[in-house]
Amino acid sequence: ALLYRVDGWGAPYFTVNSNGNVSVRPHGVDTLGHQEIDLLKVVKKASDPKSKGGLGLQMPLVVRFPDVLKNRLESLQSSFDFAIQSQGYEAHYQGVYPVKCNQDKFVVEDIVKFGSSFRFGLEAGSKPELLLAMSCLCKGSSEALLVCNGFKDVEYISLAIVARKLHLNTVIVLEQEEELDVVIKVSKELGVRPVIGMRAKLRTKHAGHFGSTSGEKGKFGLTTTQILRVVKKLQQYEMLDCLQLLHFHIGSQIPSTSLLADGVGEAAQIYCELVRFGACMKVIDIGGGLGIDYDGSKSQDSDISVGYSLQEYASTVVESVRLVCNRKGVKHPVICSESGRALVSHHSILVFEAVSASSHVPPQMSSLGLQYFEETLTDDALAEYRNLSAAAVRGEYDNCLLFAEQLKQRCIEQFKDGSLEMEHLAAVDGLCEFVSKAIGVSDPILTYHVNLSVFTSIPDFWGIGQLFPIIPIHRLDERPAVRGTLSDLTCDSDGKIDKFIGGESSLPLHELEGNGGVNGDSAPYYLGMFLGGAYQEALGGFHNLFGGPSVVRVSQSDGPHSFAVTSAVPGPSCGDVLRVMQHEPELMFQTLKHRVEEYADDGGNSSMVLTDGLACCFNNMPYLAAGASCSLTAVTA
Ligand code: PLP
Repeated sequence: ALLYRVDGWGAPYFTVNSNGNVSVRPHGVDTLGHQEIDLLKVVKKASDPKSKGGLGLQMPLVVRFPDVLKNRLESLQSSFDFAIQSQGYEAHYQGVYPVKCNQDKFVVEDIVKFGSSFRFGLEAGSKPELLLAMSCLCKGSSEALLVCNGFKDVEYISLAIVARKLHLNTVIVLEQEEELDVVIKVSKELGVRPVIGMRAKLRTKHAGHFGSTSGEKGKFGLTTTQILRVVKKLQQYEMLDCLQLLHFHIGSQIPSTSLLADGVGEAAQIYCELVRFGACMKVIDIGGGLGIDYDGSKSQDSDISVGYSLQEYASTVVESVRLVCNRKGVKHPVICSESGRALVSHHSILVFEAVSASSHVPPQMSSLGLQYFEETLTDDALAEYRNLSAAAVRGEYDNCLLFAEQLKQRCIEQFKDGSLEMEHLAAVDGLCEFVSKAIGVSDPILTYHVNLSVFTSIPDFWGIGQLFPIIPIHRLDERPAVRGTLSDLTCDSDGKIDKFIGGESSLPLHELEGNGGVNGDSAPYYLGMFLGGAYQEALGGFHNLFGGPSVVRVSQSDGPHSFAVTSAVPGPSCGDVLRVMQHEPELMFQTLKHRVEEYADDGGNSSMVLTDGLACCFNNMPYLAAGASCSLTAVTA
């Protein structure tokens, strides 16, 4: 656990148990009288074949813990409640969840359900997100806010206004000045008085990776001049009372409370000015940005850590708004935040297997096939070979490496001009590998091949270099014997993970027992990627036509296993991912079936076995599967 800093990034939800497995405390430190959940047991339950009492899901697997979501939501609310109470702040906190962080049906529905007693709402940034927020909030608190952000057209704005007609507490936040004309026109046409917010472009700038949307040149929001023009226009149309919310967002992963205080303080000044102009202001919406400590370092100087706790974040916000409003004699506004990352990151774990590893055992000289080797070499290559042998006898290791490399280059030239055969080129490669391993300068870092697509499941690592804690989820009572990087299934050189938390370029790993899990019958080696519940599922793509993982939802229970799987959904099948690219798997199958009947019908039942096997391939997930899961193999064997 120490090696992987689990206590730093994992507390209070993840720890290591006495069996050396990761265990999960879905309610944080307080397990409410339940046992902790052994993650390995969950993975086995989900992935073991049905015949062994498992659910038979293919890996990789996302394990969701709704109770972690509930705990995050309650912790956020209670941090603000405490700050409000202890500072004598005269309004309440009422958050919204930005659905773009993870639009999964269960995640959004759970947040609405768990948050309904404290009026927790949703934020949408596009038309489909608005549709989903509208339908989910029908089951939430009637006071919950539905904040409509993002670029808007007539259809988006009409939908938001219809949502108000449906008694949803919808606020249309102007991201651009031009949106106001549409809001005025459509609300008149539909006979609905809209509630309007506006997003201010603050001068406060967040310098980290996620800060590019902040500052005067940021992508979103209204400048000071535009704010003044919007106020004037609303006055002209006698709609200034509709302006009730001020929003800003200075970027995700705000590193420090000093930057936070600076931004919130500036926004509070704008809020007070809007009150002075006569707007009927009620809410200050501080956007997202509440950060996650991915490496447990509590550092303010990196994009993957933050130097504050939830409580310090909430107290800073409340204090910054309170001080400005008190100075200006303005009634304290309701404080809303759009915290996404901080709410959903912890609730899911991506589990995947290492299926094989590159070897660190030097080749045996006797197996290199060096016989007749010398006869095939040109004079130049032969000279290098003799130099190498002489340097080895004299123990001149640097020279050995030099001559080995020169010999290899000469042999490659010889192979290219056709005067060296493939077996000999392989022999010289083996000889060079033997030399570098014997001298101890070969790369000690192994490559572990994992049954995963980085592009689909950890897109932020590929896209923006975001690091997540990745650790084995078992064998943590055994000292890892090697170090390795991870290489995924895609045919793409970027499909690898070679940077890890703590600034490491490799991960301490245990040696695979046999072939790993998929093609051998030996024990699988499972790794987990933690804190990836935000953005990764939403951003993941279909590179090489690998789709999303299987998903289980897990709750604590008093049964013998301490947990219950409340839902289990296999990941998209080969047919599903083909459909995403407009292929028609049913027609593809029919084409192949006719082909089987035409070419492989031997009068027996082998064509039926082949067609059944093909159907099975369309229905299975694209990832490596344990054993022969389709009956195609029965024919080919
Ligand atoms: N609100 C807005 C407008 C955003 O752009 C974002 C994300 O960048 C969020 C909320 C969520 O931010 P976070 O995930 O940092 O809480």
